[in-house]
Amino acid sequence: MTERLYWLDPYMQQFTATVIACTAHNGQPAVILDRTAFYPTGGGQPCDRGTLNGIPVLEAVERESDGAILHILAYPLEAREVEGRIDWERRFDHMQQHTGQHILSQAFLRITGAQTVSFHMGEERVTIDLDRIGFPPAAIEAVEELANQVVMENREVRTWFAETEETKELSMRRPPKRGGRIRIVEIADFDRNACGGTHVRHTGEVGPIKIVKLERQGDVTRVSFLCGWRALRDYARKHHLLRESAGSLSVGEAMLPEAIRTLQAELKETRKALGTLQELYLELALPSLEQRVQPAPFGEILVHLWPQLPSGLLPLLARRLKEGHPRLVILASGGADGLLIVACGPGVPMDAREVLQRLLRRLGREGGGGRPDYAQAPLPQADLSALHRALSEAFRSWSASDGIS
Ligand SMILES: [Zn+2]
Repeated sequence: MTERLYWLDPYMQQFTATVIACTAHNGQPAVILDRTAFYPTGGGQPCDRGTLNGIPVLEAVERESDGAILHILAYPLEAREVEGRIDWERRFDHMQQHTGQHILSQAFLRITGAQTVSFHMGEERVTIDLDRIGFPPAAIEAVEELANQVVMENREVRTWFAETEETKELSMRRPPKRGGRIRIVEIADFDRNACGGTHVRHTGEVGPIKIVKLERQGDVTRVSFLCGWRALRDYARKHHLLRESAGSLSVGEAMLPEAIRTLQAELKETRKALGTLQELYLELALPSLEQRVQPAPFGEILVHLWPQLPSGLLPLLARRLKEGHPRLVILASGGADGLLIVACGPGVPMDAREVLQRLLRRLGREGGGGRPDYAQAPLPQADLSALHRALSEAFRSWSASDGIS
């Protein structure tokens, strides 16, 4: 079995070792060493990365059958003696998150009585699952405060091995799941638990601990949190967002929620006023549009183009004009949010989507969509006059047949 140097000294960034076996793992070359500082994926902690004689170690995994650690390599390694280097930034991040997890789990237990049932560390997210639901915000604040208190007291973190029998004498946060030799991780006068991961030597190295999210997952609560550099990066990102948002509304950060509420209320009022004005416009515009309706072989047809019209009005007009008439309605407007609409009233023997596509093809365009009785597509300002011509041509073919060619 591979000697695990990361247990003796989690701060070891370089080591030398002898290759005892060359093998493969999922088609990639892999080696087993007599000793290693590479932590293999397990216990909620992702594996270390780094190099062996300069060859990238993509992954380190523990072989279930004999506990050997497989170093999965980018390409084959020829040498017998190797020098290993650990990607220290990645490893130290794992040590911060993992030690922070022990602190947070004990803080939850002390303040709320909730036990941690699982732990997961990802590239972005670190989570623990607690065996309870429904934590009041004040309890979460108290947990976070206690956890950070323990960090700032810079308590010693000690690890050692004990037989399962001996652990019964010790007060452990959770009793060990398996028998035999157990690795114990102790945060002085605070927490003691069985764990095979890598941890910092003093709690101060964990840095800030921040709970960022609580989610209910059935009858457990999933707590997302960040420790150390991850927490600081998150703070910097959020600070930037806050400053930018407050700046764009020209208010102080503390006034941001109030400023957003005021904007929302104003928007609601403006939308209401716009709705009233649109109704008013419809009442005024519809009679003159009705006068433009012309007979067609299948019933009636109405075509009208505006150089510019607020985009919200056009669909309202189209729907009102087709209602209750065997009428083909084609409306378009230019402007920044130009629109082309084809609407078919009851009894019109055409599919609005098809008519729309034919018109678009005459403009050398495609896109848009809708239903058989209503279809629309964006219309760039530049296409408005071309559409005018296309519609005149279509009109001519209309007089002679039942559809748009
Ligand atoms: Zn641990």
